[in-house]
Amino acid sequence: MADFTTRTGEILDRSAIESTLRRRLFYTPSFEIYGGERGLFDYGPPGCALQANVVDLWRKHFVLEEDMLEVDCTMLTPEAVLKTSGHVDKFADWMCKDPKSGEIFRADHLVEGVLEDRLKADKTARGQTVEVDEAKDAKKKKKSKEAKVEKLDDALVQEYEETLAKIDNFGGDELGELIKKYNIKGPTTGAELDPPKAFNLMFQTQIGPSADKPNGYLRPETAQGQFLNFQKLLEFNQQSMPFASASIGKSFRNEISPRSGLLRVREFLMAEIEHFVDPEGGKKHHRFDDVKDTKLSLLNRKTQLAGSTKPDTVTIGEAVSTGLVDNETLGYFLVRIQEFLLKLGTEHSKLRFRQHMANEMAHYAADCWDAELFTTYGWIECVGCADRSAYDLTVHMNKTGSPLVVRETRAKPLVIEEYQIDLERKKLGPKFRKDAKAVEAAVDTLSQDLREKLSLELEKKGKIEVDTPGVGSGKTELEKDLIKIEKRKRTEHTREYTPNVIEPSFGIGRILYSVMEHVFWTREGDGARGVLSFPPTVAPTKVLLVPLSSHQDFKPFIKKLTSRLRRIGVSNKVDDSSASIGKRYARNDELGTPFGITIDFQTVKDNSLTLRERDSTKQVRASEDDIINAVKSLVDGEETWADVAKRLPAFEGQDLETST
Ligand code: AMP
Repeated sequence: MADFTTRTGEILDRSAIESTLRRRLFYTPSFEIYGGERGLFDYGPPGCALQANVVDLWRKHFVLEEDMLEVDCTMLTPEAVLKTSGHVDKFADWMCKDPKSGEIFRADHLVEGVLEDRLKADKTARGQTVEVDEAKDAKKKKKSKEAKVEKLDDALVQEYEETLAKIDNFGGDELGELIKKYNIKGPTTGAELDPPKAFNLMFQTQIGPSADKPNGYLRPETAQGQFLNFQKLLEFNQQSMPFASASIGKSFRNEISPRSGLLRVREFLMAEIEHFVDPEGGKKHHRFDDVKDTKLSLLNRKTQLAGSTKPDTVTIGEAVSTGLVDNETLGYFLVRIQEFLLKLGTEHSKLRFRQHMANEMAHYAADCWDAELFTTYGWIECVGCADRSAYDLTVHMNKTGSPLVVRETRAKPLVIEEYQIDLERKKLGPKFRKDAKAVEAAVDTLSQDLREKLSLELEKKGKIEVDTPGVGSGKTELEKDLIKIEKRKRTEHTREYTPNVIEPSFGIGRILYSVMEHVFWTREGDGARGVLSFPPTVAPTKVLLVPLSSHQDFKPFIKKLTSRLRRIGVSNKVDDSSASIGKRYARNDELGTPFGITIDFQTVKDNSLTLRERDSTKQVRASEDDIINAVKSLVDGEETWADVAKRLPAFEGQDLETST
């Protein structure tokens, strides 16, 4: 795995950023004074503000822009729902146990970790340096320190790399074989591991006091609630298709071994969209033309199966027309996901879309792409985008008998020629008595092919035999006086279909953490100063107010400014501590506050203020009204700092970064 470099080209030390984020209370382990609980985290004030801003942007970018129907469904879910959806039987990961220590590992992560360590050790043994940023800067190379020094055969290096490229495609048996083949043992004991076993990731629970055994689960995704409300939403939408529902809420997964901080947790905020589309006509999207020239970095399944992880940069128009991305609607959402992630401040070069391989994808899915962000933990899936076909609506409809379908009046009536069956019900009842209904139902469900075959047989032999599960021997003979099969014409005025679903599914915590790594860098100067360069729209606090000193004359100005900023919805904090202005700014650079307003003696004289921008540390000076207006348009994303710096006079009177 390549090193993660910041925007200024330095290798990011994960422990440095993680300790900054925890110290600044972006997030903290839950229940820490009780020893903590793996995979559970609390967000502190800046983390909450950041999350709220990301969710707000998500709502604007998707729900508002695309006119989606937002719903908020319950997290407690009865067992029957998740049994039908397939989660009870299939929502599992592969775990393996070290019989000596009792430790449990997620099988694919264990194989991945061991092979990566061996490759790292091999590189060190060969005396190679680890490339920092694809030959971008020769001076930014470092020796890999961590791994044990052991050289591998060239062929084995290639085999390991190929195995890693397709690690997500392996099932339990294959992972078991890899563990044996590569002699992977219990990491702490060296013991032979038990074969991988499926472990269901859902938290089971009891709903209601009278349940004598678990009868429900905490939802593992928000999707099911949206599917079950489909018919009501369609009605709300005045039967108009296509449309999308959206939902933001907590989901729960009992991860086998939570690791990687916020990236793999047991309770997390999800934002999901279910876009319902007519399967006929190629799943076109009416806005596809607007995005067709957008380029995406696509790592397709063929490349991965060939053992490589090199993506291609392709326009979405080309990807859909060549069939690489299954349809326009899926392609449209990939572009919209990219736009959203870039708005949050992620680096374009650290974003790719990886297509699921056949085994990785649910059997009913037509295509699936993950938006992955590169972090110090490697490439991490942050958004899944799947075409789930008609699967979910179909299974819930079949189970409950409630229609989850679209009925449309046909522009032109459709004339269908088909085999129709007439049963002589007056005779059927007395002949089959209690089984009459079952016989009738079995006959009703006969396919057109079978009806054609049976009509010929009936004409020839004067009787036919029909499969009737649960009746007698399972086969029932029907004579000519009971049944008639004829080819006739029928006119259909309405069309009924089950929509297909395109589902973009966002893990907000993963996105937050990845964004924080992407925007983090250290400013050169006296001591390493961490900076989080959040875009102003996303930053937890927008403005820092710094009076030059604790002089009484500054107080009324501070009071007036905070209240004016609050009134226009711009979050701000006052730092009137005795630390130097430079130190106060540095503290807030770590919190990602994009702007600072200084109040000095000139302010007292003429009501002018200086406005400082976090990344460039450049300042402008103007009247209070001009500064407030500039801040508002910067925070709303209507102007950039370059725009503001062009129209307001630069201020270079005082070097506040180093002033004491
Ligand atoms: P999935 O339904 O597995 O495709 O997951 C959808 C999204 O949820 C992923 O793209 C992740 O962003 C997020 N996600 C899934 N599992 C976890 C987890 N254990 N911790 C944090 N986020 C997760």
